[in-house]
Amino acid sequence: MLNKFRNIFFLSLLGGAIGIFSLSNVYAKEQLQIVTTQTIFADLVKQIGQDKVSVKAVASPKYNIHFIQPKPSDVRAVSNADLYVNGGLDLEAWSDPFLEAAGKPQLFRNGEKNVDLSQGIRLLKIPDHPLSRAEGDMHIFGNPHFQMSPDNAKVMVHTILEKLKEADPANVSFYEQNAKSFLTKLDEKISEWKKLCAHCSGQEIINYHDDIEYFADFLGLKAEQFLEPKPGIPPTPKHLAFLEDYIKEHHVKAIVLPTYYSRAEAEKLANKIGIKAVTICQGVGELPGTDDFFSFFDYNFQQISGALQ
Ligand SMILES: [Zn+2]
Repeated sequence: MLNKFRNIFFLSLLGGAIGIFSLSNVYAKEQLQIVTTQTIFADLVKQIGQDKVSVKAVASPKYNIHFIQPKPSDVRAVSNADLYVNGGLDLEAWSDPFLEAAGKPQLFRNGEKNVDLSQGIRLLKIPDHPLSRAEGDMHIFGNPHFQMSPDNAKVMVHTILEKLKEADPANVSFYEQNAKSFLTKLDEKISEWKKLCAHCSGQEIINYHDDIEYFADFLGLKAEQFLEPKPGIPPTPKHLAFLEDYIKEHHVKAIVLPTYYSRAEAEKLANKIGIKAVTICQGVGELPGTDDFFSFFDYNFQQISGALQ
């Protein structure tokens, strides 16, 4: 009797497990499985794909995007992915070895399921000479932090839309409608942000790393001096002394940086001169209240607008 009960118990457990497995399988098949490098890309994919996509970003916005170490669960996710959405350039230098670990060639750089969001972006700061190590950790294709301009989202959404349509032809009109709604809202928000930050045009800021070139370009800001004396090199006392003179001479009102760089030097320098050190996020979800594309830019434009009053 006890044995019979055990068998029934085991069979019903197994049956339940099979039921759950097949249900999740059906659900998984209905949604495109998409892995992205950055959280802002994940949100753009979600805005267009909505309930037809399941999206996972590899890079936590709490960490410096240049130096992400993907986890085994990320490798598993990408080996099951229908599309891999990434920045394409050399900001995510960890991306190629990561894809190799997953071993799915269609997702590799230039593969048919690799969605390179740098396609069609007007790149800034393309080097005009061969780079050497003496110049620090330079980006060799031009500035790769292009996610920082809302204008570039228009290009990225187009690239995402085309790839979603290719991967899931049954839902072409759904994706097109979502992209259209997103772009209409984006145009409205761009006007709002430009108005909020109109007074920023022509002003100068100091940045930690050269990662807001596109944000500055969008607002007409000057951002040519950095806390890093060279890309990837932390601030030195000599360089901080130079910046102190520079800030006073050029009437700079703010030092900006994302959350993952050390704030100590930025705040010390800002306090010494009586200016502000403000956070400009690089990734969606970097701070509470920056959980999607629009709230991320709302936060950043409010920060810069307030700092440069
Ligand atoms: Zn960089």
